[in-house]
Amino acid sequence: MFEIKPYPELSWSISRHKTMLTCLRKYAYDYYTSHNGWLSSADSLAKQAYRLKKVTNLEMHFGSVVHDLIYQIIQDVLKDKELPSEEKIVDEIRHHLNRGFIESTRKEHLWRNRPKHYTMLHEIYYSQTNTLPQAKVKKITDRLNTTVKNFFASQSFADVLNKRDMQFIDSEKFRFMKTDGVKVFIVMDLVYKNLAEDKWVIVDWKTGKKSEEDRNQLALYALYLQQKYKIESIDQIVIRNEYLLEGGHVDHKLTKQDLINVQHLYQASIERMKDYLNDPVKNEPLPLHQFPLQDDPRVCSRCNYQELCFPEMYNSESDDV
Ligand code: SF4
Repeated sequence: MFEIKPYPELSWSISRHKTMLTCLRKYAYDYYTSHNGWLSSADSLAKQAYRLKKVTNLEMHFGSVVHDLIYQIIQDVLKDKELPSEEKIVDEIRHHLNRGFIESTRKEHLWRNRPKHYTMLHEIYYSQTNTLPQAKVKKITDRLNTTVKNFFASQSFADVLNKRDMQFIDSEKFRFMKTDGVKVFIVMDLVYKNLAEDKWVIVDWKTGKKSEEDRNQLALYALYLQQKYKIESIDQIVIRNEYLLEGGHVDHKLTKQDLINVQHLYQASIERMKDYLNDPVKNEPLPLHQFPLQDDPRVCSRCNYQELCFPEMYNSESDDV
């Protein structure tokens, strides 16, 4: 039977680490305060934090819709189902984006009750208007066709179509490995083995612009794969970024030093996370006020929790809908 626990299990991921570095208060809201906020019996702060955690923005929503559709297309190809046309995929993405906008502007009451099942865009929620910034709308609209075209032309999709020479790994979304009893989460978009070349390929679809690569994230993927499938040499693993906006891909080769670096990062990071625990056995956090607020207003302006950190600026509504 499902057991309600007062505190979540301690876990680690690159995104959790980045959140801790961005703002400790946000880290507390994301990983502790919002825990159990989905339960009708939760207190109003937990409910509010959980709801705000689910707020997204236009770029993230676009990325998530594209990732979901790519996942679905690949599943269909692997099951020999008919391949949809590029136009159909573009239409479908547009439909999801429009739905997200409608839910944000006209269905806030539904989102308040079931934030996991409805979309709320940050641009709408915090502007308190029913319009999106035109520059952002244009940016996303411009990305639509290009992203789909580049996906269909990508090396990794060509490998999916050439599936007889590839061994695909089950693509459950949440993977983790245990390190010192702590779950380390790894989210990989697509993993397969190129049987002809005896190489493992981990694909990361990028829907934004190219940026300085986070080798730690890539190294974590490789480390997971190496342990899970007992791969002898790191040289057998290729990490591929597919750039759906700009087209083309980059294959990364990692070194043993990259793997050592990510293990050191994990050790230092988890120790810092434990500094913010009142009870490490229960994973009970320190009181909220001991998680400092961020000083930089530019960081706050992009954050989901403005309403909680600066309540005087917002008229928060009751949870009793
Ligand atoms: S609004 Fe600012 S201080 Fe509050 S959680 Fe977000 S980043 Fe941190």
